Amino acid sequence: MTELKLSESRDLTRIERIGAHSHIRGLGLDSSLEPRDVSEGMVGQAQARKAAGVILQMIKDGKIAGRAILLAGQPGTGKTAIAMGMAKSLGLETPFSMLSGSEIFSLEMSKTEALMQAFRKSIGVRIKEETEIIEGEVVEIQIDRPAVSGAASKTGKLTLKTTDMETVYDLGTKMIEALGKEKVQSGDVIAIDKASGKITKLGRSFSRSRDYDAMGPQTKFVQCPDGELQKRKEVVHSVTLHEIDVINSRTQGFLALFTGDTGEIRAEVREQIDMKVAEWREEGKAEIVPGVLFIDEVHMLDIECFSFLNRALENEMAPILVVATNRGITSIRGTNYKSPHGIPIDLLDRLLIITTQPYSEDEIRKILDIRCQEEDVEMSEDAKQLLTKIGHETSLRYAIHLITASALNCQKRKGMVVEVQDITRVYSLFLDVRRSTQYLMEYQKEYMFNEASIVDGGDA
Ligand code: ATP
Repeated sequence: MTELKLSESRDLTRIERIGAHSHIRGLGLDSSLEPRDVSEGMVGQAQARKAAGVILQMIKDGKIAGRAILLAGQPGTGKTAIAMGMAKSLGLETPFSMLSGSEIFSLEMSKTEALMQAFRKSIGVRIKEETEIIEGEVVEIQIDRPAVSGAASKTGKLTLKTTDMETVYDLGTKMIEALGKEKVQSGDVIAIDKASGKITKLGRSFSRSRDYDAMGPQTKFVQCPDGELQKRKEVVHSVTLHEIDVINSRTQGFLALFTGDTGEIRAEVREQIDMKVAEWREEGKAEIVPGVLFIDEVHMLDIECFSFLNRALENEMAPILVVATNRGITSIRGTNYKSPHGIPIDLLDRLLIITTQPYSEDEIRKILDIRCQEEDVEMSEDAKQLLTKIGHETSLRYAIHLITASALNCQKRKGMVVEVQDITRVYSLFLDVRRSTQYLMEYQKEYMFNEASIVDGGDA
């Protein structure tokens, strides 16, 4: 049984998944933030891409934090694609997290806790650690072996010469072991990490080694003031505030980071962490990197969430919030009030609004071309033209979905290139929204729990 499960999961990982936005590799802008016609998988939507590019530049320059942007437009006009483009352009250093409005409604944690975790996943902390690394050429190593042998009791001295002076180190057991491991001799150029005692062999200085070998074991030790020889190197660790929260939360071990099963984190833990991070910032040991939190389908949030967002954006350590919606004037969830996009006016007032426009036939054609390439589907010119027409008359998403379906149909008839016949076949097999609605209108009386039939007097 176990074996069967293992082989099944191995097979599954081998399947290469092509996501809806896998063709998006950036915003496709040039250095002056002007959108290129077709670039990095992006087509058209010039105004919105340009606006997103300006925001992105400000994020990269570290000029803004705690700002919020709304991407508003009809379904399938590329709002999510633009957010993905922003994420790809940000690079790995800036945290980007994404969730859909409906994801925060779970029984395991409160809505506001889920939002708080999403916020803290989008704030990076760069923790700087200074290590002292000393580089120099080994003048002499002197290890005293006590009468009763045993590595633990070994002591010794190491004379190291940097460009202009010599320093003598008392060797600890660890350093002696490290010297042995690297097989260090006089004349070698080495680096010593003072914090960990790690020794790395960098090379050999031949001219000097001969001199020192000639000098023999009577080499004179010259004690020099410590510190002047030291080179400082900086090691930077990038983590998110959420990761620090989870690691420090007693109820959840750090393994929760991998399982995602973090549960609720106590407010006191977060307060302490915020204080510690503020302390590190003052000491110059840490830097805050505000990232991006993208909430798709933002109209699914309710009034409590919106008021949480209002407050959270005022926090000193807030990320950039990007929200998207395809709703017009609709109810604010949890109230009887209506408002544009289902977002309360006070939050709307804080948002910079970017709108997306429906695509032209030419743009649909270009997006379909890119998707065919991405899905590795060969399609004839006629078939592409037909698919573009379908996309224009129904929706871009429907046309994109037909690519894989028509390729499967083509495979089934042992064809190499998707032709018009494949497109017409899948077009008749799978309905788009308009045809499906029309079908429902015609046959609604035959469906169960049909309200129209009750209104009609239950004659179905
Ligand atoms: P909804 O409101 O329904 O969530 P949306 O505006 O978020 O829709 P997307 O999901 O971004 O729409 O777009 C639908 C599909 O079209 C996706 O596969 C997306 O990658 C692709 N797409 C949309 N716009 C572009 C574009 N400008 N360039 C390339 N691909 C695009």
